[in-house]
Amino acid sequence: MSKFKEGKKRSIVASVTYLLLSVSKIILGLLFFSLVVYADGIHSITDFLTGIVVFVGLSLAERPVSEEFPFGMYKAENLASLVVAIVMAYAGIDIIRSSLFSGFGTIRYPLMLILLEVVSCIVTYWLSRYLSKTPGLKLYSVKAEGIHAYQDTLISLGVIVGVLGEWLNYHYLGKAVAVGVAVYILYQSYFIGKDSLLILLDISDKGAVEGIKKVVYTISEVVGVHEIKVRRAGPFLIASMHLEVPPSLSVKEADELADAVEEKLKESIDSLVYVSIHIEPGSFSGKWRIALLVDKDGNLVENIKDAKRVIIVDTWNKILEEFSLDKGDVRAMAEHLKKRKVGAVITNGKDDLLIMKAYGIGVYYSPVKNVKESLELFRQGALDPDVKSR
Ligand SMILES: [Zn+2]
Repeated sequence: MSKFKEGKKRSIVASVTYLLLSVSKIILGLLFFSLVVYADGIHSITDFLTGIVVFVGLSLAERPVSEEFPFGMYKAENLASLVVAIVMAYAGIDIIRSSLFSGFGTIRYPLMLILLEVVSCIVTYWLSRYLSKTPGLKLYSVKAEGIHAYQDTLISLGVIVGVLGEWLNYHYLGKAVAVGVAVYILYQSYFIGKDSLLILLDISDKGAVEGIKKVVYTISEVVGVHEIKVRRAGPFLIASMHLEVPPSLSVKEADELADAVEEKLKESIDSLVYVSIHIEPGSFSGKWRIALLVDKDGNLVENIKDAKRVIIVDTWNKILEEFSLDKGDVRAMAEHLKKRKVGAVITNGKDDLLIMKAYGIGVYYSPVKNVKESLELFRQGALDPDVKSR
């Protein structure tokens, strides 16, 4: 999978950038006695680590699924994020401790420190654009990194204010900015830590469930879907579901339908790597394609030879198609209905319409002739699929 090549490259570029920034900030902060710049340097180290974690996560995700890890090692990314969150929290607490309980001497070369932070502003702003424009697969971790890089730009602006405070002997301003940076780090570590922990515990992804539902219902033969379960693993989604299909389909046809659903899902949702589908006969209240055999007045016919027209309806979206019937050619009609993905025929008739069943189309016998009433009875599951001779 070379899907991650660009994401990996960009997270390495980000890491190297943050490493250079953090080393310069820590050295110059310590050398010239600026607590805020030093605190910002510690913050940049956590950003460097985040970049490494994203890189490692994507590298593990590239590994092919093995017998030992049948779902891949995608969760390594989440585990690593949790470690980063803990490191970040420690760094945050450490900065607060050192800002509150230690004097830091008198600042020197403040203009140079301000220049460093201006460079940091520009570089992190560029980085935020660079990361958020990563082409190809949408990688959650790279996107989050991009958002964070923009926050770094804002932090550097704050740090410039802090350096001015230290320079002009408003020490409280300097300390306040340092504590502010630390609180921000703690806040970030809380969210990153919470997210990775929840993903490790297989929290459900409601947005993805809705997305899957939408895609599945666009496939015309599908009657319904339920028990959709989605979990995250690194940048990926793993899903299982119960797919409702017309009960008249053969096992082979149902399997083909399940394959089509899987293919369409993977096509529409980039991050979906594994789909497991359990097939069930569709509930009558689901989305069915139904053909109705009617006479010239639009009522269901008793004998197929009286049928003048066929109406194909979608039980959710009303009438799809209406056409006149070629006298007698039931086979041609069955073929056409199959092509139009019809799952059931409703008739008031006495014919058993075996030919429909041979094409995998269910035949349901309505006790009434009115089309609307018959459809309503179908929805309630009140129509009999198995009347042979009446
Ligand atoms: Zn940052």
